[in-house]
Amino acid sequence: MEFVSAKARAISPSPTLTIDAKTKQLISQGVDVVNFSVGEPDFDTPDHIKAAAIEAINKGFTKYTPAVGTLDLREAICQKLKKENHLDYKPGQIIVSNGGKHSLYNVYQVICDPGDEVILQAPYWVSYPEMIKLAGGVPVVVETSAGDGFKMTPEMIKAKLSKKTRAINLNSPSNPTGAMYSPKELEAIAKLAVDYDLYIISDEIYEKLTYGEVEQVSVASLGPEIKKRTIIVNGLSKAYSMTGWRIGYTASEQYLADVMAALQSHSTSNPASISQKAGVQALLGTQEPVEEMRVEFKKRRDYIVQRLRAITGVSVLVPEGAFYVFPNVSAFYGKTILGKKILGSDQLCELLLLEGQVAVVPGSGFGAGNYARFSYATSMERIKTGLDRIEAVLGR
Ligand code: PMP
Ligand code: GLU
Repeated sequence: MEFVSAKARAISPSPTLTIDAKTKQLISQGVDVVNFSVGEPDFDTPDHIKAAAIEAINKGFTKYTPAVGTLDLREAICQKLKKENHLDYKPGQIIVSNGGKHSLYNVYQVICDPGDEVILQAPYWVSYPEMIKLAGGVPVVVETSAGDGFKMTPEMIKAKLSKKTRAINLNSPSNPTGAMYSPKELEAIAKLAVDYDLYIISDEIYEKLTYGEVEQVSVASLGPEIKKRTIIVNGLSKAYSMTGWRIGYTASEQYLADVMAALQSHSTSNPASISQKAGVQALLGTQEPVEEMRVEFKKRRDYIVQRLRAITGVSVLVPEGAFYVFPNVSAFYGKTILGKKILGSDQLCELLLLEGQVAVVPGSGFGAGNYARFSYATSMERIKTGLDRIEAVLGR
């Protein structure tokens, strides 16, 4: 008997991770692929963070910790939230998980009963709808476009509200568009959430990677009523170049933290003890490497936007944060390039990979088939090479 549950059958694999794995396999076979696919900083994890992990191993800090994370890490997160986001949380309100992805998974599991709706915008990060479905929830998508800056307004959200709406999902700066909500825009959405008594799930994983156009604030900091309804999701992967260490966290009301703690105590238990010690150092140690990375990302962003805009048929908004650009590439659909008919983003990205040795993620996975996502978390030199190749392929 080969049986899998209906729930399992409904889930498709993550396109970002699939393309990254395929690309890394090609690279290991000696193919010179420029990897614009995965959202993973190319910088090494800063040395002082690595040193804390090595010390943890040498001191034997290699056993189970509390399932929700060590007290010192949860205290460090509270300090960070106070200092950077002007938010008061107690360590008991923090749940440390195996990456922001795991934190999000926990959140949807504890706020969704079967059929409960979570409003999210398209273009969305690939994993949100799948995780909502895994929790028995229903993703309700608000379509946004370059014309509205890839942002939802309260009116657009209102049009999707139903008796089953449980939460609004926000991700600012956004993966895949890089769009950011201004404090004013957040205030308007926060008001709606309070008026209709909804949760806001605020994925702030890219909060430190912003480039000066829009002020970054946490929606939870806009007043006590919205703070009560907000579940902050964050993690160390992007800001500290710690993708492999797997540390993410939530900050929420105590009753939600308690149920997520119970869930995590039966599923994964604690994230790696060693990574947690490194996490304390990341949060409390020098923040200089973060700033160095941010400055470098900004240079790359400016360059890649200018190069993409120079390609006839490509249009692109300037991303205000994160490390992605999301150009509209639909002008190529219906055309035949190098003998291949381009029907949509999947064929275009396949063409770029096979003919240009450049890995880009099709917009289809983000609910936006007219686009393709480029991660510029790769060196300036590789960005130049990649864009030269793309220009050569698309110019044919
Ligand atoms: N949210 C968004 C929008 C992301 O792009 C990512 C990247 N994978 C995550 C959450 C989670 O990252 P991680 O699990 O590495 O913390
Ligand atoms: N968030 C990154 C991306 O979108 C990492 C891969 C993933 O977890 O999806 O590429």
